[in-house]
Amino acid sequence: MMVRQAVLRAPYELTLRDVPEPDPGPGEVVVRIRAALTCGTDLKTYRRGHPRVPFGPFGHEGAGDVLATGQGVEGLHAGQAVVFTPTAPCGECAGCRAGRENLCETLFDEIAVGAYADAIRLPARIVRRHLLPKPAPLSYIEAAFLEPLACVVHGWRRLGAAPGARVAVVGTGSIGLLHVREARRRDLEVVAVGRRAAGRDQAIRAGASRVIDAGAGDVGASLRHIWPGGPDVVIECTGSEAVWRAAPSWAASGGRVLLFGGLPGGTMPAFDATRLHYGEVDLIAAFHYCTEDVHDALALLSSGAVRPRDLVTEVRPLDAIVETFRDLDAGLGARYAVLPEGSAWV
Ligand SMILES: [Zn+2]
Ligand SMILES: [Zn+2]
Repeated sequence: MMVRQAVLRAPYELTLRDVPEPDPGPGEVVVRIRAALTCGTDLKTYRRGHPRVPFGPFGHEGAGDVLATGQGVEGLHAGQAVVFTPTAPCGECAGCRAGRENLCETLFDEIAVGAYADAIRLPARIVRRHLLPKPAPLSYIEAAFLEPLACVVHGWRRLGAAPGARVAVVGTGSIGLLHVREARRRDLEVVAVGRRAAGRDQAIRAGASRVIDAGAGDVGASLRHIWPGGPDVVIECTGSEAVWRAAPSWAASGGRVLLFGGLPGGTMPAFDATRLHYGEVDLIAAFHYCTEDVHDALALLSSGAVRPRDLVTEVRPLDAIVETFRDLDAGLGARYAVLPEGSAWV
């Protein structure tokens, strides 16, 4: 039997092709995709490739039903609704042993890409660690937020924000909006900074007390107008070098900056040494997620503590995948749900 699979061969060369339905090897599972989500990482990959992820089958956030299990897979059966993340740590390397599973030396050796498809084959290490039953109340689309939310949860673990901290979230794409939700869940006051009016409106709905138009003047001055001295925490979610450079000057003395949005390889952002030194501003980087973050993210989704449904710009059928990335590249919409069968919210 043939299945459809989206393939990115080179920047901007995305096609939907027919391939034989994947067969699970020992320890592997094939999942029939019910929903996949577009992600900022995918848009970057579409435009310029990705340093860790090769060109080929495309898409990494998904949920679906078990189609077939390989030899030795236990506790999963055909038809079971599941959600997965695209990587899992090896559990044995120095990074894993030190509890820094997101820094696993072989994290990307067995990555599961190809979520924009009718079916995806998951490697054994993902099956062992990061293939989880989908909680019944969650739609497949909501469940597919597991991976981005795990990244956000990991960022907050790295940040270790103090109770009462005043938080500025810079960037109002879906990741920025998830950070706004997480800050509000922790009962922290949030101001969101964004360029798009639609994103700023969503930030207000997500719980931001104020929003700042990033395109209208000095963001630091606007933040200090709201909070004299500036925010205690600045969360950078734009992947823009200009924002990386400016964020330490926006944070209050003694504050923290979470650098969340990755920059292209080789980028060398410069920082104001005076600000970092005399202001004791901490720069904290966050990358990916550990298994603990994945479990916490699933708990947040299944309890309803984080409801990501309204972060989806639009639901599109898999057949529209090429057009969907053209739209994202043109700046239309933030995050699309791509459904092989085209039916919404199942
Ligand atoms: Zn993603
Ligand atoms: Zn490892």
